[in-house]
Amino acid sequence: MEAQSRRQSEAEFARACISLAGGESSNARVHSGQHPTIIDRGEAGRIWDIDGNMYVDLLLAYGPLILGHRHPSVVAAIEAQIRTKGAIFGMPHRLSPRVAERIVSMVPGIELLRFANSGNEAIITAMRLGRFLSGRPGVVKFEGHFHGWGDSVFADHRPGLEEGHFPIRPRSGGMQAGFLQDLFHAPWNDIEALRQILDDSDLRIGVVMMEPVMANTGVIPPRPGYLQAVREECTKRGVVLIFDEVITGFRLAPGGAQEYFGVLPDITVLGKIVGGGLPLAVIGGSRDVMKPIADGRVFHGGTYSGNPLSLSAADATLTILQEQADTIYPDLFATTASLGKSVRESAAATGVPVQVHVVGPMLQIFICRDGEQFNQIVDYRTAIKAALPKRFLDLHYRLQNLGVYIHPDQFERILVCTEHTQGDLDTAANAINQAFKDMVAENGSTT
Ligand code: PMP
Repeated sequence: MEAQSRRQSEAEFARACISLAGGESSNARVHSGQHPTIIDRGEAGRIWDIDGNMYVDLLLAYGPLILGHRHPSVVAAIEAQIRTKGAIFGMPHRLSPRVAERIVSMVPGIELLRFANSGNEAIITAMRLGRFLSGRPGVVKFEGHFHGWGDSVFADHRPGLEEGHFPIRPRSGGMQAGFLQDLFHAPWNDIEALRQILDDSDLRIGVVMMEPVMANTGVIPPRPGYLQAVREECTKRGVVLIFDEVITGFRLAPGGAQEYFGVLPDITVLGKIVGGGLPLAVIGGSRDVMKPIADGRVFHGGTYSGNPLSLSAADATLTILQEQADTIYPDLFATTASLGKSVRESAAATGVPVQVHVVGPMLQIFICRDGEQFNQIVDYRTAIKAALPKRFLDLHYRLQNLGVYIHPDQFERILVCTEHTQGDLDTAANAINQAFKDMVAENGSTT
């Protein structure tokens, strides 16, 4: 198939680079290789670039758009708020308790919460609260898990294997090593490794923080019983457990991964879906856990925290997710499972070695080295051993030319939304099948 023209994207990106540092406002959006595709608009499960090319959108803005682009109820709520009330007041607002109550009624581990603007901010607050509650400075995070780019947490979450165990190094220039001195890496899905770190009294661990489904190294589920075991080890030692549900919140279930797996953290962080496409995040927990924030011993604030415009989008989105949960979640699960099944069938038919991971409405295709396809990817280490990011990037470009947009990075994820039509999903499945065929025809072995 002839490549679509992206001339206007190319010209516009060149223009952007003159006034915008690096041409974009997030380093995560610019990738080596081609110029980025510049987007004009979205509708339901599709997006259009400025050259007029249409794509089935399986990126969905990295996660917030579980109801797709411009969902009529969300648009109506935002419109009503801005037209008849206003965007921001810097004073208590009637939407705050309304949305807070809805979240409390949905997420089992939250009795009391605070709004923030991004996952990033909420994580920084959650770590601060966790350290205060435990009275210990040490924080364990897991290899391959991502929790934003704050100075206290932005360790390279994808260390090289050659560096031995648990390297922690600043992921950005300008971060002094001391910022991360009480942060430790553990391999995920390995309860014994975690026990050893928790038992090392020199480390003074007070907080364990994880994505309950690893969604920043592809999509990797917790082993059966792992979350429960982590919960027990933390409880035994008075260690505060944080679930970063920025991706899994409202996605795996109305109450997120904690509802889906039946394991409650001490502190929950929510982002992405909670704001219905506008900036909003949450730090929440039991009344006792949240008390230091409520009484001001642990500081949290922000001009835009809990701003009414974001809360209006949140209100509309969460109302739909809660009231229609009985159909929305089974449908999303079924759609994702069926896409996963067709990817596996295409891989088997074409001989492309893949592991397809499906966890509820989250999916990732790991394109693996020949002979490695039967090795289980269970954590970051097994993922980088088995997967071929360059091959995945090739898949990304091929799918883009076939009208399907997935993130170029092997270690991101494919998402579906409630507004994808059967036609969109068929387009995606057929494009993946075609791309696999072309890859084998052009490159033969994938190694
Ligand atoms: N936690 C996780 C698990 C994430 O995936 C991300 C961003 N993708 C963040 C935190 C940071 O969230 P934000 O981009 O809203 O600051």
